[in-house]
Order: sequence, then structure tokens, then C-alpha cells
Amino acid sequence: MEPVLSRHFNDSQYRDVDTYMADGGYRVLKSTLKQRAPEEIIQTVKDAGLRGLGGAGFPTGMKWSFVPSVEERPGNRYLVCNADESEPGTFKDRALLTWDPHLIIESMVISGFAMSMNIGFIYLRGEFTEITPIIEKAIAQAYEKGFLGNNILGSKFSFELYLHRGAGAYICGEETALLESLEGKRGYPRLKPPFPATHGLWRSPTNVNNVETLCLVPFILDRGVKWFRSIGNDKAKGPKLYCLSGRVKRPGVYELPMGINLKELIFEHGGGIPNDKALKAVIPGGSSCPVLTAAECDISMDFDSLAAAGSMFGTAAVIIMDETVSMVEALYVITRFYAHESCGQCTPCREGVKWMQDILRRLLKGRGRREDIDLLITMCDQIERRTICALGDAAALPVRSFVSKFRHEFEKGIQ
Ligand code: SF4
Repeated sequence: MEPVLSRHFNDSQYRDVDTYMADGGYRVLKSTLKQRAPEEIIQTVKDAGLRGLGGAGFPTGMKWSFVPSVEERPGNRYLVCNADESEPGTFKDRALLTWDPHLIIESMVISGFAMSMNIGFIYLRGEFTEITPIIEKAIAQAYEKGFLGNNILGSKFSFELYLHRGAGAYICGEETALLESLEGKRGYPRLKPPFPATHGLWRSPTNVNNVETLCLVPFILDRGVKWFRSIGNDKAKGPKLYCLSGRVKRPGVYELPMGINLKELIFEHGGGIPNDKALKAVIPGGSSCPVLTAAECDISMDFDSLAAAGSMFGTAAVIIMDETVSMVEALYVITRFYAHESCGQCTPCREGVKWMQDILRRLLKGRGRREDIDLLITMCDQIERRTICALGDAAALPVRSFVSKFRHEFEKGIQ
């Protein structure tokens, strides 16, 4: 498959607007503003079957169509690019932001035009300090060239774009916490409904999309629905950035078709396990996704196949564990992360995840109690689907899967 998203990776010259334009950059924006109607763009994205690649997998075109029209809701309308990439194991958006900042800007202007937005924000993860000047420079260059601002390229469409840096909270990757943070408040997730489409930033029509999702839009418009749907398998379409990390010979970001076989991804593209150790387990989509045993890894990497297998596609962040990895320690590290990142609004998440961390610590130290393992599962029952946002589930799902599939390792921690 010819790479599209990763075509500029590791070549810093494409950060410059002139190099980007010489390579065809902003060409799709020009033709879109001249030749396409907003409704046509939304329909094309729907027809392609593009799904949100920040973890949720919601159909992008449908999400766009939920935004009310300008006639229904006049005033400011916001497009927010969620660049608060913080899920452990996930570093694909970071690569796009680092190497192809103008692709993100072009994608946002096109997407903003499709939904008649007039203001855009890139909400950048606070720790991405090295990316900040790259995005700032790209935005300034795009203004100079007339790709941002009033009456873009002589059209009637105007779009202002701002960079906003987060302050290091994982929870601000949740779209409503992100909006609270953008409004200058503590990043507390909101109860839904109402949804951001109608009551988003400052209660105005808002769309929040992931970096990678937005970056695919110009390619779909340029190359067509047929091209997009020719990539992948019968269950999932389009190009995808996969992150490989953990016990793998060649960790990194790989652009491959949706639906690639997980074993092929690890052993052919990733080069397999270092020192020829045996594969023990894989988290397929970032640390919040239920773990797969080695025997379950002969599977298509797509939303539906992984859901059917009891896990999740998430952000396609594949964390590989070999036979030497302690599953108790791995789960302890994951749970400690979620306990630390809980915003504290909901009791099951605030108290329960911390409590699970305490239980896992004593199992890790060999001081577990006989009732601890069943208690962990009971706690998952009490957390899942009982919280304001998905962080509660994100913490409970790994616990349930690790303990259920590797119970014998946890039993060894009982004194
Ligand atoms: Fe905050 Fe956790 Fe509740 Fe989400 S689930 S709102 S992170 S306390």
C-alpha cells in the first residue's frame, strides 16, 4: 500500500509551507473551496465509511451531520482537533503533528468548511513541548499564504485557527473535558447529553475530531471513495497508523491497511519478539483495551473483529508482552496510571481505581489476600458503565481481562 499519512515522516522539510505546496499540499483545499458544497463533502466522508481513529470508532460523516446548520444555530461554531494524545502505547498523532503540520491545517480548513465552522482549535498535549513551535510556525505560514483567515483564497469562507496547549492531564483527551479545559476551566468531563454537536464549546455547535481522522479527509476528497474503500478487508476500510511498542524488535509507527492481521503486524512488520522469546499477550489498542492471549492474536485489526473477541481496536496502539513479562506487574502499572489520571468526579472511578491499585500492589509484593482476585472482578462490576466518562471503564476493562485470562499469575501473589 502506498503510504499517505506517513509519506512525510522523518523528513523535516515538509514542515515548511513551500515544500508542502510543491508536493501538492493545499491543492485539495483550493479545489474543494471552488468546486464542492459542504453537504457533498459530508456525504463523501460518509460514503467512504471513515470512522473516528481516536479510539471510539464513531462514523465521522455521521458525527459531522449532527452539527446543526448555520440557519438553525447562527454565531460562532467550532472545530476542535483533539491532539491530546495520551493513551499509553499511542504515539501516531505525535508523528503526524511532528512531520506533517500543514496536512493537519489543510484538513481542518476543509473539515471546517464542510461543517460551516468559523473557528478552529488544535488542542495539543501539554507534554508535546517540541511540537509546539512546529505547529505555531505552520499556522503562521498558512495565514501568510491565505489558507487561514478571512475569505480564504478569495472564497466566502473564513476560518481562524488557534493552537491551545493542554497542561498534562490525560482526562483532557476526553472530548467534553477538553472543551471545559479550552474554556479555561478544570478538565472535568461533562454529562452527556447534550452532546458537543449542539452544546459544545461555550454551548455552541462544536465538532471534536482526532488528528489522524481529520488528516484522512483530504485524501478521501482527492482520491475518492473508491480508492479509500479499496484499502483494507471486508470489515474495515482505509489506511491506518499502527503503533508497535513493548517486546518487539522494530517498535514504531506503521502505516498499513485497516484490518491487517495482528500476528502479521507483530512478526512481519515489527520483526517479531527480541531474543526469540515466546509471545505471551498483546494489548491491541492502547492500555485501556482488554488484553489478548497469544492464542487470540490471529485476528483482523479492526473495530468489529476486536469487539467480537472481547477487546477493542482503540487507537491501534499494539503493546506486546513476551513470556518474561509479569502480568501482575503490567496490570499494576496500567492501573496506577488510571488511578493517577482519574479526575475525581465519580466515586466508583476516584475510589475504586485507587483501591484496585492498592490490591494489585499487595499481590505484586506477594502479600495478597485470598479474596483479592474475586474482589478485583467485583470492583470491575461496580465501576463499569457507572461513571460520567469512559475512564472508569478504561481502568476496569484491563483488570477484568488480565485477571480472568492470567488468574494463575495473580494467585501466586496470595500469601
Ligand atoms: Fe472523572 Fe473518572 Fe468520572 Fe471520568 S469516570 S468523570 S475520569 S471520575
